[in-house]
Amino acid sequence: MKTYPLYLNGEWVITETTNTVVNPATAEPFARISLIDRSRVARALADAGGGFRSWRATTGKSRGEYLQRIAGELERRRDEVARLITLENGKPLPQSLAEVAMSVDHLRWFAEEARRGYGRVIPNQVEGKRHLAIKTAIGVVGAISPWNFPLVLGVRKVAPALAAGCTVVLKPARQTPLSAVEFAECIDASGLPKGVFQLVAGSASEIGEEFLENPVCRKITFTGSTSVGQILIRGAAQGVKALSLELGGQAPLLVFDDADLTKAVDGAMIAKYRNTGQSCIAANRIYVQRSVYQPFLEQFVAKTKALKVGDGLEDGVQIGPLIDKDALAKAAEHVENAIEQGARLLCGGKTLPGRKGFFFEPTVLADVPDAALCMQEETFAPVAPVSVFDTETEVIERANVSKFGLSAYAFTRDLGRAFRLMESLEAGMIGINDGVPTTSQAPFGGVKQSGWGRELGAEGMEAFLQTKHISLCID
Ligand code: NAP
Repeated sequence: MKTYPLYLNGEWVITETTNTVVNPATAEPFARISLIDRSRVARALADAGGGFRSWRATTGKSRGEYLQRIAGELERRRDEVARLITLENGKPLPQSLAEVAMSVDHLRWFAEEARRGYGRVIPNQVEGKRHLAIKTAIGVVGAISPWNFPLVLGVRKVAPALAAGCTVVLKPARQTPLSAVEFAECIDASGLPKGVFQLVAGSASEIGEEFLENPVCRKITFTGSTSVGQILIRGAAQGVKALSLELGGQAPLLVFDDADLTKAVDGAMIAKYRNTGQSCIAANRIYVQRSVYQPFLEQFVAKTKALKVGDGLEDGVQIGPLIDKDALAKAAEHVENAIEQGARLLCGGKTLPGRKGFFFEPTVLADVPDAALCMQEETFAPVAPVSVFDTETEVIERANVSKFGLSAYAFTRDLGRAFRLMESLEAGMIGINDGVPTTSQAPFGGVKQSGWGRELGAEGMEAFLQTKHISLCID
């Protein structure tokens, strides 16, 4: 079994202590990743501090050229990277290819943004003074990414940080470190100076503590669960460390009776089942207006039953395995709990028989009460709970009851209603007649317990810049 290295200060490092990486489609280990301890992470931060002194002084144009080279290398290796994403994460190969393509697009977007770290000139109120606001790179960044989009969520942090002039130490999730090694190989091939990007792996809590407590690390950017986000918020208090947090979601999807029903069903299919339901912006709960409730359910169930489930490397597969057996148990618990509370099971509802991998059948539940677990917590599985509503006011209230506010979806052809929904739904991203709202050039992030700050768009680079006011007295 191959042992993958870490990337530390420009060197590839294989260690004796390793973790195995499991293919969720077979439940079998297929590779190992090297691990380091906290003291070695501290050294990586020190090296990142050394790298920062010269990297911050390079021009935005030059930083952009490195990012373009990384994008080109990733594009060249797209097939092997996509295959590895499917092996370690389980998602169907076409979706892994789409993840690589989106990563390339993010890199190119931030390559262009690197030239645009604009400040501004502020009119003076006192004669002889001039005021400037300039933007400078924050410094060394500790980045922590999750397993559900193992490549693109790392890229979404590393690309803007490098564009801004920061140096980065990336820690990927323990289940999916190999896509990050591939990304590091593309970075290495770009000729990026040593210490500017490093890849670490090891105990998550130790690495997190080192990022929090080491004064060289000036910012932590994190994507993952709200519970780990809360640990980071508590830990950041001591050093008043800057944090960007992309946390859990619990997205509502609203279908109004004036919607194009076929488009609403297609939108719900992609918003629910993309990435096997393991997306932070997945439609977790679906509300349908009474007069279109039955026709929606009929079309949605028919399309759900037609989904092909299997190993993501097999042709035509649309639903892969869940990440591990805990994820299977959570899906089963959410389904059982909904049925106990009066929901009707229309299809699916159990693990796939006869498979060693972590497969859960695509599942539709109707008449799901608001008190059911799946209407309140992130399910992270191909489980679609559907509930009926009568009025716009009622459904907005039910959509906003969640403590999370990452994304929301609404299907309607009424322009006035679309504007009312944009303004009143409590979510950082809202897809109106759109089940896939994410794009490189628009801000991505949540409100309420879904996090702090934004990735992507102009805001994505802003997160790694600090503003300085310069007051100049000139005779
Ligand atoms: P997780 O358990 O929070 O893990 C995410 C990352 O945090 C992993 O790298 C993990 O390392 C690390 N981690 C765990 N404990 C830590 C600690 N004490 N200190 C520092 N880091 C720690 O989340 P997950 O289950 O992998 O990912 C799913 C969650 O991510 C869902 O809630 C999903 O909604 C959220 N998510 C949010 C977004 C967004 O943009 N808002 C995007 C995608 C996913 P180990 O793997 O080594 O334990």
